[in-house]
Amino acid sequence: MSVSTVAADLSVRAPLPVLGQNVTVPLVTGGEVTYAALDYAASAPALQRVWDDVAAYAPYYGSVHRGAGYLSQLSTDLFENARRTVAEFLDCRTGDQVVFTRSTTDSLNLLAAALPDGCEVFVFETEHHASLLPWRGARVTCLDAPRSPRQAVRTLERALAERDPHGPALVCVTGASNVTGELWPVRELAATAHAHGARIVLDAAQLAPHHPVSVRDLDVDWVAFSGHKLYAPFGSGVLAGRADWLRAAEPYLAGGGASRTVTRRADGGVDVQWHEGAARHEAGSPNVIGAHAIASACKALTEAGFDTLAAREQRLIRAVGEGLADVPEVRFLSLFGDDAPRVGVLSFVVDGWDSSHFTAALSAEYGIGVRDGLFCAHPLVRTLVGGDPRAGGECGASGPAPGERSLGAIRVSFGAGT
Ligand code: PLP
Repeated sequence: MSVSTVAADLSVRAPLPVLGQNVTVPLVTGGEVTYAALDYAASAPALQRVWDDVAAYAPYYGSVHRGAGYLSQLSTDLFENARRTVAEFLDCRTGDQVVFTRSTTDSLNLLAAALPDGCEVFVFETEHHASLLPWRGARVTCLDAPRSPRQAVRTLERALAERDPHGPALVCVTGASNVTGELWPVRELAATAHAHGARIVLDAAQLAPHHPVSVRDLDVDWVAFSGHKLYAPFGSGVLAGRADWLRAAEPYLAGGGASRTVTRRADGGVDVQWHEGAARHEAGSPNVIGAHAIASACKALTEAGFDTLAAREQRLIRAVGEGLADVPEVRFLSLFGDDAPRVGVLSFVVDGWDSSHFTAALSAEYGIGVRDGLFCAHPLVRTLVGGDPRAGGECGASGPAPGERSLGAIRVSFGAGT
């Protein structure tokens, strides 16, 4: 069964229209074809509705929090309403903070900057670099790739059991892998973390566009996601969760907006009192359009229903999996087994083919855009492709150096507009 047969069977229109659905691209073989964007895991196209909401607001925007004029008040309301919409979307607890950031990477770096002194961090080697790398000031324990959700919980349990239970600790885990699409046992990992006095942050960059995320139900302490993977334009993200560590930390950026009062001292220095709420970590003029776009996407996804979106993505993923299963050279990448529950993301290697050549041919000859490489998760892809997380290989879709073979894989990912 081909992808187009499945798409036709599911109704011609995707459940939520996105921008760029009718873009035609030239083929090397001559002629043109409607571009098939199957790279939602990297960046999803913006929803038409998000774009319309942003365009409707664009003529009215003004400075946030500072201006007395009507448009400033309108913008401030829009920005603060966006915060409330995100809190609802994530089912946050009373007292949780929603901080607008630039991206998931930015959100996790903000949390890393807010860790209490002596904090230990536990992270699986399978994480995206945005989750693996920000914890530079902390003692980091990098856990081996588990081969089942149960093993993930056991591995964390063992590692936490060895730590000093009185010191602060943070576990960072993804909800869905950007390489395999597989779902991680977040609720169980959160329970394990809490049983050992640690906190947990959920990297929901790949989960939030496909699944409802309930901070309350999963019992995670923080959640981070990116607007550009959630059908909003680039440049906005979210860190939401417990206020205490964020309130106790120095502001992520120092400047206006984060400061409540600033006074000149007699000795020539400057004293500052910082805000205690989300504004503490939002210095500078905020990305009000980005926040508005994220809120619009949250509403659109909630109204469309995650069950409807997921059912369609699952059928498309199955169609690709079944189609490729007939090709003996294809090997799918998974940690938890090919049948493990996953979001609309599937990666594979084709024996005898360099992944970058394969994806270049898909683009040039068929107008299909997918991604190849190590997907900013080098240790995981090395484990899955080459069996060794410490092997070499460069990141990115630019392909290997001349004469070198790429270690990378090929990733197909679906979303609301496919
Ligand atoms: N976490 C995961 C699981 C991701 O897939 C990505 C991006 O691919 C990120 C974090 C980083 O997201 P961003 O580049 O928007 O900061």
